[in-house]
Amino acid sequence: MNAPVSATLARLRQTFESGKTRPIEWRLQQLSEIDRMLRDHESDFAEALKADLGKCRFEADLTETSFVQAEAKYARKHLEDWMRPQRVRTPLMAQPGKSYIQPEPKGVVLIIAPWNYPMSMVMAPLVGAVAAGNCAIMKPSEITSHTSAALARILPRYLDNEAFAVVEGGIPETTELLEQPFDHILYTGNERVARVVMAAAAKHLTPVTLELGGKSPCLIDKSADIEVAASRIAWGKFINAGQTCVAPDHVLVHREVATKFIETLSAKIREFYGDDPAQSPDYCRIASERHTERFVKLLEGQKIHTGGRVDVAMRYVEPTIVLDPAPDSALMQEEIFGPVLPVITVDEMHHAIKFVADRPKPLALYLFSKSETLEDVVLSKLSAGSVCINDAVLFMVSPELPFGGVGNSGMGRYTGWYGFETFSHMKPVMKRSFRFDAPMRYPPYTDKKARLLKMVR
Ligand code: NAD
Repeated sequence: MNAPVSATLARLRQTFESGKTRPIEWRLQQLSEIDRMLRDHESDFAEALKADLGKCRFEADLTETSFVQAEAKYARKHLEDWMRPQRVRTPLMAQPGKSYIQPEPKGVVLIIAPWNYPMSMVMAPLVGAVAAGNCAIMKPSEITSHTSAALARILPRYLDNEAFAVVEGGIPETTELLEQPFDHILYTGNERVARVVMAAAAKHLTPVTLELGGKSPCLIDKSADIEVAASRIAWGKFINAGQTCVAPDHVLVHREVATKFIETLSAKIREFYGDDPAQSPDYCRIASERHTERFVKLLEGQKIHTGGRVDVAMRYVEPTIVLDPAPDSALMQEEIFGPVLPVITVDEMHHAIKFVADRPKPLALYLFSKSETLEDVVLSKLSAGSVCINDAVLFMVSPELPFGGVGNSGMGRYTGWYGFETFSHMKPVMKRSFRFDAPMRYPPYTDKKARLLKMVR
């Protein structure tokens, strides 16, 4: 059972104010503890992820455990550099003097996570918060209850209990947390709840990072290597049974290669998961029966090329290819967030570009093409949280690239340096010398002083 939220927050705030979280040694040690926790309890987390999402060991490792460990390792390697004040130029008018940006921790932060990557969406943001020297409360998703319970049980045995706490629960518990004054909130989840989070944060003027979703399009040009494109798209779409915020939501393919792409993709599904993916140990389940039922409705009346089987009791949705759904169908209006891939055929790539440009900015945008001209057009005309050319989802492995949305797909970013920056206040400092005090800025103001000031700015 959770301790009262206000008491937990008071404990963490006291720790933060004591200065305990500021030294690099403490931060490095906490980052090491994250790594040690994941190594010691890899099996516990894998079992929890299996129970929640039918996640196989390989995907649990790749997309959850290793992902967080790589983040923690990268932060440990760079932390000294990140914490160092960054010198910047000082204008002539402020000479003699020096200027720098000194990162400082924000304080006590709140991390609210969703169910689709229930461990890494708690822990990867936490790496940034720890590196930046904050205390944090983590609220895992109640929908993936096994992983939530595992985090609540295991994490306090490794991380400093005076600085970190896991609060379990659903809407009432999150609402209670959101009433408290945090110094930053990082929320990952859907747009509707993001508005609730932002409204609550506004009461305390708390800054927010919103990691949301949306319909990430995938454009396939006739110049693309269709065999490789089909493999990469099948992988990016069907890992975690499509419950990936950056999974390709739908494909817009050039008519000249459409049939070849659809047939190759269908063959890849069989190659990856066998003739009956329900029997594959590598294929995940949907998070709940309620979430599975959605797919029955989404597929109603659609032209199904491959798959299409839904078993609500087993939380199973077969990897499915749908051909040319109507743009006003639910399938093309909502984020699919499951293993159903609509493939829309276009006569020209500029039709695909217009299709994407007319819709809200996605979290990820994929282009498969050998044409650099098309690449330039896509990059200059379309906005997205991230763009990945000739692959799907893989950009997530780079700690050098920030991760976050734009417009409806979110605001703010994290991973690597960007996580450190998100959870830091980048405090500008200017230090002047007493040595020389130019009188030109002081009244009485004259035209000569104005002219001089213009010259030294
Ligand atoms: P969810 O239902 O688990 O909700 C997310 C969190 O919000 C949970 O911790 C939950 O307890 C809390 N919550 C739910 N309703 C609430 C309310 N009314 N008030 C306060 N808190 C509430 O997960 P979800 O939102 O279904 O997650 C799926 C969405 O997340 C998709 O849109 C997906 O694209 C997006 N997502 C984005 C990223 C990213 O990094 N950008 C990563 C993963 C998922």
